[in-house]
Amino acid sequence: MNSTTPTETGTSNFVREIILDDLKTGKFGGRVHTRFPPEPNGYLHIGHAKSICLNFGLAAEFGGKCNLRFDDTNPEKEEQEYVDSIMDTVRWLGFDWEERMYYASDYFDQLYEWAVQLTKAGKAYVCDLSAEEVRKYRGTLTEPGKESPYRNRSVEENLALFERMRAGEFPDGSRTLRSKIDMASPNLNMRDPVMYRILHASHHRTGDKWCIYPMYDFTHGQSDSIEHITHSICTLEFEDHRPLYDWYVEQLGIYHPQQIEFDRLNLTYTLLSKRKLLTLVEEGRVSGWDDPRMPTLAGIRRRGYTPEAIRNFCGAIGVSKTNGTIEFGLLEHFVREDLNKRAQRVMAVLRPLRVVIDNYPEGQTEEMEAINNPEDISMGTRRVPFSRVLYIEQDDFREDPPKHYYRLSPGKEVRLRYGYFITCTGVVKDANGEVVEVHCTYDPATHGGNAPDGRKVKSTIHWVSAAHALDAEVRLYENLFASEDPNRTEEGKTFIDNLNPQSLEVVPHAKVEPFLAGGGAFSHYQFERLGYFCVDPDSTREHPVFNRTVGLRDALAKIEKREKGRP
Ligand code: ATP
Ligand code: MG
Repeated sequence: MNSTTPTETGTSNFVREIILDDLKTGKFGGRVHTRFPPEPNGYLHIGHAKSICLNFGLAAEFGGKCNLRFDDTNPEKEEQEYVDSIMDTVRWLGFDWEERMYYASDYFDQLYEWAVQLTKAGKAYVCDLSAEEVRKYRGTLTEPGKESPYRNRSVEENLALFERMRAGEFPDGSRTLRSKIDMASPNLNMRDPVMYRILHASHHRTGDKWCIYPMYDFTHGQSDSIEHITHSICTLEFEDHRPLYDWYVEQLGIYHPQQIEFDRLNLTYTLLSKRKLLTLVEEGRVSGWDDPRMPTLAGIRRRGYTPEAIRNFCGAIGVSKTNGTIEFGLLEHFVREDLNKRAQRVMAVLRPLRVVIDNYPEGQTEEMEAINNPEDISMGTRRVPFSRVLYIEQDDFREDPPKHYYRLSPGKEVRLRYGYFITCTGVVKDANGEVVEVHCTYDPATHGGNAPDGRKVKSTIHWVSAAHALDAEVRLYENLFASEDPNRTEEGKTFIDNLNPQSLEVVPHAKVEPFLAGGGAFSHYQFERLGYFCVDPDSTREHPVFNRTVGLRDALAKIEKREKGRP
């Protein structure tokens, strides 16, 4: 577990220190130029947000630049839909690559030339071993690898074969171009890594121009070099690839960016593997990449999370050199903190119970003044209609109240938020003995919610006027996974078995105040006493749909206490 707590601003971290140092020594001539390099094989998730905030954030802080680069070297898994969603998401998070959007596939010609250059220099060879054989020859962490029998082909033969690979003369997987480095290297990545593979597949941008594609390692550093990146910031699993990154740019004699690795974000109850997220989408376990339960940025946006909350979260968790797991509750804390400042308050009743105020004049409506946001008085007030028949939450009434139950029950008086004091005088039951209607009287002197005689009530409950209420669908979300580490499974089970069967509850007929008519998609509200909600894009004027973003209770204090207890 990272020991970062949200009280730290997260403005300083070791990557920033390296940059500060480089600026001091003039290593890159005072430039800071980063890039965010997603592979367009899925939607971006909250882990990517950490990388985006870091790369774009550092560039902005030091007056530098950050490129958006699509790392599109796997034609079989990449699609335009993903490219579009990635661009959308980075913008939504609040970052701008200006005119600097690039594709690794833009560099395929250059990369090919560089492969030829290394071949001519005797640093690369065409190998006829199958993928399986290459794996066998590679050796292990404790045993050196074995040299390929094709390793000592002449430069002429290699050049001719590589050209024929490019011309499409050979079937998929029959040959590769490999770097000639060191089969005995303690670093497996340096044991003659594959540079090019044969793949007769259409690419989403280059079409059928190529039937050989460069490997990630042969692409990434050179792409950084072409774009004159100064600090190539990536996640820790690439630490062992850095010697190879350096080797390629050195052998090619080209501009040399510096790779820096930081810890991946992991979150409790959350999976951040695009492959597994794709499985959830393909198997219909969720409604799509933007299902509000998904950890994708499209999903959590639809859930009602704001870019500000995500940026604050990313700042607070900081970056380090050791992988850990952050509690999901910390992300929720930042969502609450942001929405508390900006969300319009409204009243909504999820599970309605009819309340009839017997002494309130029939046919009368009053407009009660309600505060839109106590945290921001500039948001003003609104008028909420009040009448003789109201809805309250079923939970706010008990016929036989347990001890310490202070909400409505027979003979008890409570305050209706922005309304009056009411006292319960009786109930109406259905054939099953269920309370279907509560009868009350109100005290006209308590208009606005205060008693002139100074008497107190122990509870304030929310309500909506039955005649004025809108019917709404409300979707309540819980964690998509029931276990803290969804990847941990028993023998014979998969992460799918860890799905939480209760992750979505649809409330089809909630009652909401008329103010909510026609709020645009993604508008944020606080439903008083219930939580933060946002308008789902499925919402229409006739059929409003709200997603619960997060409940009101903040677990931050608990999280901090747990963190302190950790070694
Ligand atoms: P996956 O393995 O799930 O497909 P990836 O790392 O291959 O994820 P990319 O599209 O290559 O996904 O990621 C783009 C950038 O975002 C990379 O620099 C990567 O290191 C970074 N990134 C991906 N996941 C995380 C994460 N969980 N935390 C921080 N950075 C991440
Ligand atoms: Mg990747």
